Amino acid sequence: MIKKIQSIFSRKPKRMATEDFSSPTFINAKILEAHAVNCGCGYIAIPTGEKGNTYKCVKCNESANGPKYNLGKRVIHYEASSNPLPKSPNELLNMDFYDDAVELLKHKR
Ligand SMILES: [Zn+2]
Repeated sequence: MIKKIQSIFSRKPKRMATEDFSSPTFINAKILEAHAVNCGCGYIAIPTGEKGNTYKCVKCNESANGPKYNLGKRVIHYEASSNPLPKSPNELLNMDFYDDAVELLKHKR
């Protein structure tokens, strides 16, 4: 008698890369979401770049103005006595992954 070897088909597929909390895309999305303003359509308008006060809705692309933001590196004044601590990499927007982050936020809700 020939014994049949059972293959293992029960392995589950890996989760999407977007679930990786340490990926630049995810970090970007988190930063952008934290600084987002509400759009009239019910979605969020996110900062359009590292610095400024312009926002753009992830859903309807409507532009909006809002509070000023600086998502890049802080400017350190060495003369000043009380400098803010430099930001950690988790707090910096990575423009190379900006579009990926927008895609992620678009499909979040
Ligand atoms: Zn909108």
